[in-house]
Amino acid sequence: MPDAGASKSKSNNYDFDILVVGGGLAGLYSVYRFRKMGLSIKVLEAGDGVGGTWFWNRYPGCRCDVESMEYSYSFDEQLQQDWKWPERYGTQPAILEYINHVAERFDLMRDVQLSTRVTSATFDGDAGIWTIGTDTNETFKAPVCIMATGNLSTPRKPEFPGLETFKGEWYHTGLWPKEGVDFSGKRVGVIGTGSSGVQMMPHIARQAKHLTVFQRTANFSLPARNAPLNPEKEQKHKAEYSERRKAAYDTPFGIAGFPPPTKSALEATEEERLKSYEAKWQEGGSISYLYAYTDLLLNKESNDTASEFVRNKIRETVKDPKTAELLCPDNHPIGTKRLILDSQYYEIFNEDHVELVDVRSAPITEITETGIRTTDQHYELDAIAFATGFDAMTGAMREIDIKVKDGPSLDEQWEAGPKTYLGVMVAGLPNLFMITGPQSPGVKSQMILSIEWHVDWIADCLQYMKDKKFNRIEAKLDAQENWVKHVKEVADSTLYPLANSWYMGVNIPGKPKVFMPYVGGVHTYTKECERVVANGYEGFVMSKEEAHIS
Ligand code: NAP
Repeated sequence: MPDAGASKSKSNNYDFDILVVGGGLAGLYSVYRFRKMGLSIKVLEAGDGVGGTWFWNRYPGCRCDVESMEYSYSFDEQLQQDWKWPERYGTQPAILEYINHVAERFDLMRDVQLSTRVTSATFDGDAGIWTIGTDTNETFKAPVCIMATGNLSTPRKPEFPGLETFKGEWYHTGLWPKEGVDFSGKRVGVIGTGSSGVQMMPHIARQAKHLTVFQRTANFSLPARNAPLNPEKEQKHKAEYSERRKAAYDTPFGIAGFPPPTKSALEATEEERLKSYEAKWQEGGSISYLYAYTDLLLNKESNDTASEFVRNKIRETVKDPKTAELLCPDNHPIGTKRLILDSQYYEIFNEDHVELVDVRSAPITEITETGIRTTDQHYELDAIAFATGFDAMTGAMREIDIKVKDGPSLDEQWEAGPKTYLGVMVAGLPNLFMITGPQSPGVKSQMILSIEWHVDWIADCLQYMKDKKFNRIEAKLDAQENWVKHVKEVADSTLYPLANSWYMGVNIPGKPKVFMPYVGGVHTYTKECERVVANGYEGFVMSKEEAHIS
């Protein structure tokens, strides 16, 4: 652990105390947190603005599925008191405005270098230094490197033959043009019916002359019931903010305010169940629904009751019975893929100019000059929007050539699936931390809470190392093996592995089928992190190497 300010000395062989890859919510909080410790830090960000997910995903209707009062930083009481969210769920522009406000308010941008994509990170064991290479042909050196690269930051479109011949325009939700897209009068095809597609389609349907929805897997979606933020609720929430933030760490999803369920769905009568699901449906939001009973994500029979309730809602909403049936998910239990929140999604299928195409029974074979061909038919289109998702959780890190000099790359190490200790370090890669890495609760939690947890945990760890005069930390292989095994066991005790989800990596051809997030809950995970610390950073090796600190 370097001494504060030491990096400014020419006698040191590095540029910064800490290098951070990624200028999203995690990178920005890192600047705030490590700067407070007196450390020098540089964030390298590929985009020409900060915000990560909220910088890139500018598709129409993009909105967070966690409520705004929750989905925000907790590190500064005045910030959370001052900021006024307009709606129950933040839109992409509202969240990006908030992120830019935070960056400006805390003067974070002076430690961020934009338009710089990190391509490599190499650790020199003798010098004890990470060297980062970029697409701008620069190199940066630091003893500590933090990957704040995000979980859904590598957009992925399927390799359909012929896209290069398409004469119309095409877009990906995760790389949407800043200036927006006007689909007025156009025949638009959307491929993909995950959160992005489902959120976007009502907006496109309002503009386009014709919308063709190419659906491979029907997904469960609940009404978001977005609305302007209720001033009384807001005031109450703000009065309780600090207690609520603390309480959130004792909950599975990192969000307080949802009383834990007390019984199995199978212990309730059918009438009770319907009443409960209906109340949750009216309330809007996914956690509330999945929290109706204790075992909705554990017991298939219980889950069936919640799944069928939503299927019946789809059948009630969509007038054409054939279309309704196609929209009813039939191959995974509700909640085992990210449960979607929508605003008037199912309703668009009652409009004459919206057409649902089942590409599970008749897959897309090619993109032509004028549209999309399936094994059944050709669809004439002026524009195509790919809502086909991301190489989630591991994609961004595997794209960077990360390794210890002369050692195997992280990409090679993770060929059969990611292996981490607590989702925060990888054995064999000293002084390299991850924020919300695979095998941590990240994507199964209120993301910003998990980000703050990891950054704070790393900051405390670096402080501990400094106090003990250590300068190198590494995860032990056996601790990592045990953690990976535990993460798998926890997942296998749930219904999650039953779905072909991005949590399992199956959306990317050739990616190993491994369940990647930790689903034991934030409450369990944070206690485990605390236990590890209380036992002197159990599972990590810390040492003092002579090389790099003079
Ligand atoms: P996604 O959930 O991975 O959905 C991708 C969609 O593309 C799926 O319907 C998939 O079908 C389809 N697809 C992929 N390849 C295809 C092919 N060759 N032919 C036909 N269809 C194909 O991606 P996403 O919607 O971008 O969402 C990813 C995650 O981002 C979400 O789960 C969520 O965590 C996050 N997100 C959150 C929000 C929010 O906060 N509201 C909004 C957007 C995204 P299959 O299912 O059959 O593979």
